[in-house]
Amino acid sequence: MSIVLDGTPASEGMSTGRVFRLEWGVPVVPHRSIHDGEAEAEIERFHEARRWAAEQLRETKKLTEGRSGTVEARIFDPQLLMLEDPEVVDGTARYIRENRLSAERAFELRILELRSMWSRTAQPMVLDRLNDLEDLMIRVLHRLLGQNDPTDLASLDHDVIVVAPNLTPSLIVQLDPERVVGVATDQGTRTAHWAMLARSLDLPAVVGLGDVFARSVEGQDAILDGRVGRIVLDPEPAERAGFDRRRKRISDWEGEIATVAAMESVTLDGQYVELRANLDLPDEAPEATAHGASGVGLFRTEFLVVGRAAMPGEEEQYEAYRAVAEAFPRGAVCIRTFDLGGDKFPMFLHMPQEENPFLGWRAIRVCLDEPELFRAQLRALLRATAHGDVRLMLPLVNDVDEVRRVRSMLEEESARLTRAGIRYNAGYKLGVMIETPAAALDAAELARYSDFFSIGTNDLVQYTLAVDRTNTRLAPLYNPFHPSIVRQLHQVARVGRAAGIEVSVCGELAANPLGAFLMLGLDITALSVAWPSLPEIKKVVRDVRMEDARAAARRALAAPTSQDVVRCLVEGIGDAVDLKAFAGRWSLSLPG
Ligand code: PEP
Ligand code: MG
Repeated sequence: MSIVLDGTPASEGMSTGRVFRLEWGVPVVPHRSIHDGEAEAEIERFHEARRWAAEQLRETKKLTEGRSGTVEARIFDPQLLMLEDPEVVDGTARYIRENRLSAERAFELRILELRSMWSRTAQPMVLDRLNDLEDLMIRVLHRLLGQNDPTDLASLDHDVIVVAPNLTPSLIVQLDPERVVGVATDQGTRTAHWAMLARSLDLPAVVGLGDVFARSVEGQDAILDGRVGRIVLDPEPAERAGFDRRRKRISDWEGEIATVAAMESVTLDGQYVELRANLDLPDEAPEATAHGASGVGLFRTEFLVVGRAAMPGEEEQYEAYRAVAEAFPRGAVCIRTFDLGGDKFPMFLHMPQEENPFLGWRAIRVCLDEPELFRAQLRALLRATAHGDVRLMLPLVNDVDEVRRVRSMLEEESARLTRAGIRYNAGYKLGVMIETPAAALDAAELARYSDFFSIGTNDLVQYTLAVDRTNTRLAPLYNPFHPSIVRQLHQVARVGRAAGIEVSVCGELAANPLGAFLMLGLDITALSVAWPSLPEIKKVVRDVRMEDARAAARRALAAPTSQDVVRCLVEGIGDAVDLKAFAGRWSLSLPG
């Protein structure tokens, strides 16, 4: 009998493969003492595990180097050094000899001891080392206990669907794309940053499956459907046949993509709608173009820092920004400054552990406090303005003062570039993301200092409703159609129009057909979505009338509840769009 589990679709695409259970946690180590004569053999077993772990790390490093570059590959260096560190090596051997402990127990105790010593020093820098220490502990203990390194897929010769309790952005970058054809997790949400990274890597993902990890068995066959958010464990022949039929339909639709991409993005009554792409990696630019993007509405630059041991240099950043600018010679390219914190923690930046990271040291707050990091990015961005319509965009702005401070840094950096004779476009635009109720309510003031607004609905919903966007349990409460969101969108659109600046939306809501219809109704005619969604959204644009959208938005603005908002939009869109085709993906509870 198969097991069918439904969760939240997080990254499009369908795949089949065998389950690979990944639990990145410290294994339970049984207490075991040894006899007098066994110590030397036990120490040798520890050295063997060390050599093995070093070999594994070097291999992974080499693979990462080939895939992502030498700088990214350096994230494994601290662990390699620790494997040689006398504090680790001699300390463990001493415990084996003097306390008659098994190698795994001695190593575990020694690492725990170092961990508590290091955490007492309270230097933020130590936090990174603590994470490395834990990673190392997981690797070596798995070897000593006769278990495999949880992320090591090297011995497999078949496609796998990774099933895990949850993932992180740095684990996602470590997964071997040659082997991994999909991921399914108990926790996580569509807007978790690792899920976004999966979308960029074109890796099908389903999140929020509840207990898929507990119910899956290593090596069993599975079908993953990232469009509707389903995993089928041990599928029956009929389910396989259904999967093949769906896959065929999707590949037929993919054949249509080029045709849709070439079509004009205009509504039935002639309104042009700017459709841009959200990018997480520079390599996505060709896909975005092929899917019909007119530009880039959000380029997340965190790929340059997440999972890295060293700060990215100005030159490397400049090359990355320039490559994207050159890929869109006729369109706007909005590059967002580093949005760190929340669920994105670079290893080189010494970020404190926080109780509420999404309410903590995040985004623009980090950048303003880390001028060395931020100024290098600003210089790289300024230099990239020489290669296209590159616009700078600031995340999580709450206050005009934050924008003012960035402007003055930009002036200083521009002056430095001028003195050095380096080219940039002095007419570049600086915009802010509207991601908090504070920014939405204060939009009129912010508009005086901004050249454009881009509404980040993923965060705006989280902060307005006080619902953590990564919390699976709260997913049903994360409702972008809440009347408070509609009102804020309306308010920001109105303010932007009055100030004569562009207002666009780059949150996930723009990729939702009802969301896109609502934006049009509020006269927001620039949308930016993950590139796989572009053709679908263009079809929505081409099948609706602004007149109907405006009427529906007017009704939605007066609607007392989220259900009423959805009802107004569904009635307004009528049968112009087949909403059922989208319903699974968006958990749209359609009235009637
Ligand atoms: C948003 O918050 O809507 C947004 C686009 O930014 P991110 O999802 O990267 O936080
Ligand atoms: Mg955001």
